[in-house]
Amino acid sequence: IANINAASIDGYSQHFPLCMQNLHRELRKNSHLKHFGRLQYTLFLKGIGLNMQECIAFWRRSFKLMTDDKFKSEHLYNIRHSYGDVGGDANRRGRGYTPYSCQKLLTEPLPSGGQQHGCPYRTYSPENLITLLQNVGVTDKELLKGVREDVGKQRYHIACNRVFESAHKNEIKKVKEESLWPASELDTILHPNDYFKRSFLLKN
Ligand code: SF4
Repeated sequence: IANINAASIDGYSQHFPLCMQNLHRELRKNSHLKHFGRLQYTLFLKGIGLNMQECIAFWRRSFKLMTDDKFKSEHLYNIRHSYGDVGGDANRRGRGYTPYSCQKLLTEPLPSGGQQHGCPYRTYSPENLITLLQNVGVTDKELLKGVREDVGKQRYHIACNRVFESAHKNEIKKVKEESLWPASELDTILHPNDYFKRSFLLKN
């Protein structure tokens, strides 16, 4: 995907799944994110094609209240590490770490104390989840009812796919009717980066 740089992330965030939209919104609201949120979001951004220099620029601009010295001493290394530019074993050198899958995000320890990482379909209470969805523009009552039922049965990624399919229903219909994509390209989404890629391709 062309033109992914530090300045374009806000625009692309409309294609992000809720886990990453949530981190992006929290970052914009507080000009900060806690460690695991930063790691989850950095690897996702890497996965959508943001290169290391642009990722560093993204975080530097996002931490508006932080001095350059603090940014360099506390954050620069971790970003470079995620990209495999420093540290790690020889296998990871130059490649760094892989963006997290839904399965990983749905099975890691729950966030606490202001942390925002993980999958909101799992980590948020049903009431807070519905409010978050409404805040990002998901307001259809039947859809929200379905989401509530899904999360009540702990079918978190089904709820996420339900939201995706509703937001892209016209595009999915067209792709199916005109057999534009192989059927496998419309399978259940199991990775935040696949959510982004599929959303972007359907809408462009
Ligand atoms: Fe993100 Fe996966 Fe949860 Fe969707 S199901 S919000 S893509 S972790």
